[in-house]
Amino acid sequence: MAMLLSAATIHTDFEGGKMGRVEQVGPDHFRLHVVGQTDQAHRNRQASWYYFRVDGTRERTLTFDLVDLAGEYNYQPNRGAITRDTPPYISFDQKTWRPVETGEYDESGPSMRFRIQTGLEHAHYWIAHVPPYTNQNLQALFEDVSGSPYLKIESIGRTPQKRDIPLLTITANTGDPAGRKVIWLMFRQHAWEAGSSWTGQGAIRFLLSDDPVAREIRNGAIVKILPMCDPDGVANGGVRFNAAGYDLNRNWDINDPRKMPEIAAQKKAIYDWLDSGHRIDAFVTVHNTETSEYLAGPPDPSKKTRPLLERFNRFWMEGKTFAPSSPEPRVEPETTTSGMAGRMNVVQGLYAARHIPGFLIEMRIAKHPKLGGSRPNIADRMLAGREMVSALWKALQRP
Ligand SMILES: [Zn+2]
Repeated sequence: MAMLLSAATIHTDFEGGKMGRVEQVGPDHFRLHVVGQTDQAHRNRQASWYYFRVDGTRERTLTFDLVDLAGEYNYQPNRGAITRDTPPYISFDQKTWRPVETGEYDESGPSMRFRIQTGLEHAHYWIAHVPPYTNQNLQALFEDVSGSPYLKIESIGRTPQKRDIPLLTITANTGDPAGRKVIWLMFRQHAWEAGSSWTGQGAIRFLLSDDPVAREIRNGAIVKILPMCDPDGVANGGVRFNAAGYDLNRNWDINDPRKMPEIAAQKKAIYDWLDSGHRIDAFVTVHNTETSEYLAGPPDPSKKTRPLLERFNRFWMEGKTFAPSSPEPRVEPETTTSGMAGRMNVVQGLYAARHIPGFLIEMRIAKHPKLGGSRPNIADRMLAGREMVSALWKALQRP
């Protein structure tokens, strides 16, 4: 009898692709070691990015065990950032993704087991922690919107691996820009948080659209956008540290343009803007977490930023995409790790240096109360970008 079935195989030879050692436990059973990433001092290991293609999947039920998940966050050990709440996503075309609902989490390892059953029509599929968004996605967006009269795209510097760090400016090309409010938006400081980029893509598409609110924002505001803050990490399938091992949402209280050219370039763009006589009414950075969702304001003892924080939080809560873990917004502490240099995030660093009203957003990747208990998908993230910008704009309308 001829055996025509070829073995299933695992591949990561594409942008953002990542998986560690692959052990074949049985003919249809793989044990997958998640690589994870540590910082420059080999601490704070986080293992929450994997992205791979499986070939040879026609009429097969495959079992996958994700292992090596345990980690550390702000120097505190944990069971890892892959939990029972975060089974993977699957795609058959590398464009549309859906959550895998059958994850079995074993706390003792810990490990995450899931099974994928496919028919004759599916010769391969892709699996990832969340729907991926790579530099190629951003490039495709740029190509699509570059003709817009409201958009300027520039590069403010280069990463350790010589990728450009993009900065977008969106505003109306007619009228006097002098009195306009100024909003800075920042996305993807951490490579695994692809949801941040989809939120950014939603915000950018909305701001360039014919929507009346978008037109109002363009006429009344200058929006500066840092859409991709760790291009190397995203290209390499990293988790939360740049190519030199530095966390790009820490280290805002120190200066090291050689090891962290991304932070140096972003700081220079922001401070040059202020030093040339411009204002910043609000700065927002968008992140993802496993199960918590919140908006946090700067460590502002004067409480001057508090009313804006509360309005922003309340207006966004009225929409379809933001369901904070508790209704009151948070306030960031002065640093993430007291007594240690290099531990301020962007909101903390910008407040300490220039009293910039910065806001940090965390959006959950687990089941979402406003999605009927589903896990967020690309369209939900893009809508979040639109709602986030609209809520902030509404919040800025009062002094
Ligand atoms: Zn983050």
